Amino acid sequence: MRIIRSPAAMQRQALAWRRDGVRVGLVPTMGCLHAGHMSLVRRARQAVGPRGVVVVSIYVNPTQFAPHEDFRRYPRDAARDCRACREGGVDVVFRPSDPAMYAGGRARGHSTYVAEERLSRTMEGASRPMHFRGVTTVVAKLFNLVLPELAVFGAKDFQQAAIVRRMTRDLNFPVKVVVVPTVREPDGLALSSRNAYLEPAMRTRARALWQAIAKARAGVRARPAPGAAALKRHLTRFIERQPGARVDYLEFFDPATLEPRRRVRAGTRFALAVFLGRTRLIDNARL
Ligand code: AMP
Repeated sequence: MRIIRSPAAMQRQALAWRRDGVRVGLVPTMGCLHAGHMSLVRRARQAVGPRGVVVVSIYVNPTQFAPHEDFRRYPRDAARDCRACREGGVDVVFRPSDPAMYAGGRARGHSTYVAEERLSRTMEGASRPMHFRGVTTVVAKLFNLVLPELAVFGAKDFQQAAIVRRMTRDLNFPVKVVVVPTVREPDGLALSSRNAYLEPAMRTRARALWQAIAKARAGVRARPAPGAAALKRHLTRFIERQPGARVDYLEFFDPATLEPRRRVRAGTRFALAVFLGRTRLIDNARL
C-alpha cells in the first residue's frame, strides 16, 4: 500500500493509471476509520476488481466546518487508519495537508468554491450553513486529483450523498457515485467517528436515535397516514426525555428531491440530528 501526501503526486499517479487503463475507485473519508468506512472500501474493490485500484482519501476538510464546530478536536489517528487500510486491501491512501489542499489557506490562496444550491438548503444545510459548500468543493478537488471512475459514499450521510450525486451530474464529472447502506452497532447506533466523543452514559442515551427511527417506522403503519408535524413533536419529546439530549432537527422528506413531506408514508425518508451534550449525531432511514 502506498501513502501519497502531495496533491501533485496524487494527480500524476492518477494520470498514469488513466493512461494504462487502470480502473480507479475512490472512498473519501475524514479518517478515524471504522467498519462503516471499510464497507465502502469493500464496495469500491468489488466495483474495480482485483486489477483495479482503491484509493482512500483521509482528510479532515477545514472548509466544511464552521468556526465554532469540532474541526480542531476531530479525532485523528493516521497510524491506525493506515493499518486499517492496509488490512482492508486498499492500494493507496491519499492524505494531503491543509496547506497543500488549500494553497496556503483562505487568506493567501484558495478562492474558488463549488456550491450546490437546491438540495443543500434543508436539514444539515440549514443547520450548518457553509457545510455543503465545503463538502462539494473538497469532493470536486478529490475527483480532479484521483480521477476515479467511481466514488463510494455512505447512506449514513444521505443528504451529502444526494448533493454529491447532483454536483457530479450538474458539472459533468465522469464519475459514478455509489451509495452504501449504513453500518450499525448491535443496538442500532450508526457507526460514526464522532461516537468516540461519547462517555458511557451518553453512549447509552444515544440509542434514542435508533429508537426514534423505529418509532417513526411504526408510525408509518398507522391509518390514516400521520402528519409529519405531530410525529416530529412526539419524537422530539421522546428523544429529549434523555438527560443531555437536544433535538437539532427532525425531517420527513422525499428521498429523490429532499423536499419535506407533510404526511408520512412508506418510502418517506426520515433524518434527524441530535445533540448529546456537546456531541452532535446524525442518522436517517427509509420508512
Ligand atoms: P466521514 O469520515 O465521517 O466523513 O465519512 C466518510 C464516508 O463514510 C461518508 O461517505 C460517510 O457517509 C461514510 N460513513 C460514515 N459512517 C458510516 C456508516 N456507519 N455506515 C456506512 N457508511 C458510513
